Amino acid sequence: MPDTKKFIENLSGAGKSIGVLTSGGDAQGMNAAVRAVVRMGIYVGAKVYFVHEGYQGMVDGGDNIKEATWESVSSMLQVGGTVIGSARCKDFRTHEGRLRAALNLVQRGITNLCVIGGDGSLTGANLFREEWSGLLDELVQSGQISEEAAQTHSALHIVGMVGSIDNDFCGTDMTIGTDSALHRIIEVVDAIMTTAQSHQRTFVLEVMGRHCGYLALVSALACGADWVLIPEMPPKDGWEEQMCHKLSENRADKKRLNIIIVAEGAIDQNNKPITTELIKDLVVRCLGFDTRVTILGHVQRGGTPSAFDRILASRMGVEAVLALLEASPGTPACVVSLCGNQAVRLPLMECVQMTQEVQKAMDEKRFEEAVKLRGRSFENNLNTYKLLSHRKIDAELPPSSFNVAVLNVGAPAAGMNAAVRSAVRVGITEGHTMFAVNDGFEGFYKGQIKEIKWGDVGGWTGQGGSLLGTKRTLPAKHIDKIAEQMKIHNINALLVIGGFETCDRIKQSASGTKRRVFIIETMGGYCGYLATVGGLAAGADAAYIYEEPFDIRDLQSNVEHLTEKMKTSIQRGLVLRNENSSENYTTDFIYQLYSEEGKGVFDCRKNVLGHMQQGGAPSPFDRNFGTKIAAKAMQWISKKLKEFYREGRVFANSEDSACLLGMRRRALVFQPVVQLKDETDFVHRIPKEQWWLRLRPLMKILAKYKTSYDVSDSGQLEHIVRLRAKDISSI
Ligand code: ATP
Repeated sequence: MPDTKKFIENLSGAGKSIGVLTSGGDAQGMNAAVRAVVRMGIYVGAKVYFVHEGYQGMVDGGDNIKEATWESVSSMLQVGGTVIGSARCKDFRTHEGRLRAALNLVQRGITNLCVIGGDGSLTGANLFREEWSGLLDELVQSGQISEEAAQTHSALHIVGMVGSIDNDFCGTDMTIGTDSALHRIIEVVDAIMTTAQSHQRTFVLEVMGRHCGYLALVSALACGADWVLIPEMPPKDGWEEQMCHKLSENRADKKRLNIIIVAEGAIDQNNKPITTELIKDLVVRCLGFDTRVTILGHVQRGGTPSAFDRILASRMGVEAVLALLEASPGTPACVVSLCGNQAVRLPLMECVQMTQEVQKAMDEKRFEEAVKLRGRSFENNLNTYKLLSHRKIDAELPPSSFNVAVLNVGAPAAGMNAAVRSAVRVGITEGHTMFAVNDGFEGFYKGQIKEIKWGDVGGWTGQGGSLLGTKRTLPAKHIDKIAEQMKIHNINALLVIGGFETCDRIKQSASGTKRRVFIIETMGGYCGYLATVGGLAAGADAAYIYEEPFDIRDLQSNVEHLTEKMKTSIQRGLVLRNENSSENYTTDFIYQLYSEEGKGVFDCRKNVLGHMQQGGAPSPFDRNFGTKIAAKAMQWISKKLKEFYREGRVFANSEDSACLLGMRRRALVFQPVVQLKDETDFVHRIPKEQWWLRLRPLMKILAKYKTSYDVSDSGQLEHIVRLRAKDISSI
């Protein structure tokens, strides 16, 4: 990209004004999006205005539209809901209301709008843009604005970001708020499961989603629910008996509880609502089980946003500002979406129309089409759920004489048990006999191996650590004994789950009366992922990592910058340091440096997070990721076993006999372990290329105090633009 420098120069926001608003239902992460728009806008030299109370504030004007400053979005990242307010506004649906809104914007010179809301809000924004020149003509005619003002503000640019907990918008893999809502749901389900377990109860749980079953489906997957009901897939006639049969079967199989998850908008084949009460009555009548209903309601919208939502919204907000800077008078409204882990721009109205198509398909009972329209990931979730929740009877299983063993190695990681459960169940469904190995390779050579059945892994999805037990012992020294065990148990394939080997509360305590900087050490060996991504999610001022070497000059510049920043109204500072980022610039050293230099301005506290980072219940993402990745791995193993044995190959020697399954772009990809050699830095146990390094310029821009950026110092912006071009070309 030889013209990047020139391109960057043209990206200046000087003389531009951007309005940012949140509209429709609130969603966790909206504040992170607002913060990113404000800081990125200011960074490129634009003026940014908060429009309070959604479109109502735009229509009413006055104090509802206020210029934002860098500090005004400080300490906002971790707050749920929307600090600038949201509303449903009848006036904006009328021509008269939009005329008043246009006047308010022109009076402040705002011709760029960033709208964070659902499909309704984005439709309204698009309509406003289409009507814009007509509205200005009317304002000129009525003498409310001058001809000249109309000309200066002749084009309105719109960019949308979808804030919706339902994940109901076509074109984006995730909407802002969905991941946090899943966290809330899973917390409740985990809590309910303990009481259900004690009393042998059945719980019927209603989750949000009037038109979209994403939350219900994904939470069912994440907690291993017995049954799920979503609007896109109404159950077939006779489902009542099938469901009751399954519930009683699961109870007979050692399970002391049942969980049924129902989306708010669940329907039957005739579009008739299926309510939680209806289900409860059914279970009580047919099975006599003690059954309770819990309706989660607004709990799902509440609370602090997850790290994922903060990062998603921050990335989207930065991209939204770039989109506005690049827009020219004819540019159609766009929406910033997440596509294959990249923030991209898509035509707003095409996405809105596709979203409406899903509803139409459901209304017209074209349910299979509705599932397809929701996208590949939705379909994949549905298929995985079906695969894992239903145990085929022995007569239905495909014939197989293969034995497959599963083991965990390395440090325990949240989501490992979900992966084991999934592998065991998919393996059984494929007809294999599954074996579990305890304590990694150490247990393996000692003979700690036995058959594991479908019911044995019930309830494993939500458990932290490794239920099989895991050790760091390497296999090389014991390879003969391991081979012996494989022979004894006739093991044909091995699935190895393992690897190479929280800052909010801290920030809250930091934002007391005293100005305070926290120095936090994160885990990760030589890999700076946790420090960087944690830094972006928590709004850190600096994150020191091994991959981006730093010296005393960097430390000096960071400490000076932070000291200046703490002299303003900002009360907290956060500095992250990856455990192996530098041999000599230790956490203690950095703590002492900041303490000394910050004297009289702030004081410092140090915290080494340590093993707490590996503990606790797995997040919904880790549960589902573990589940899906292990299902895919088992399916691959089955395919390979069949191929190899059919061809009579000695498979242990071929390149694809040992593969690593990982996530690349939008897909799970298998890569022969031998190929990984070239891509791995074995000394530091990290990949040579780390995708997340591209988030670092973003983190720096959002943390730095600068009223405007200087073209000669446009390094971070240039970095973002270059990386973006590279990423998009590879999607
Ligand atoms: P959610 O997903 O939470 O329902 P949403 O953005 O879809 O969010 P809506 O109530 O549909 O929520 O829209 C929010 C606001 O956007 C409305 O109150 C209205 O002010 C504006 N709006 C929605 N649709 C239109 C439209 N067709 N024309 C003008 N304004 C609209």
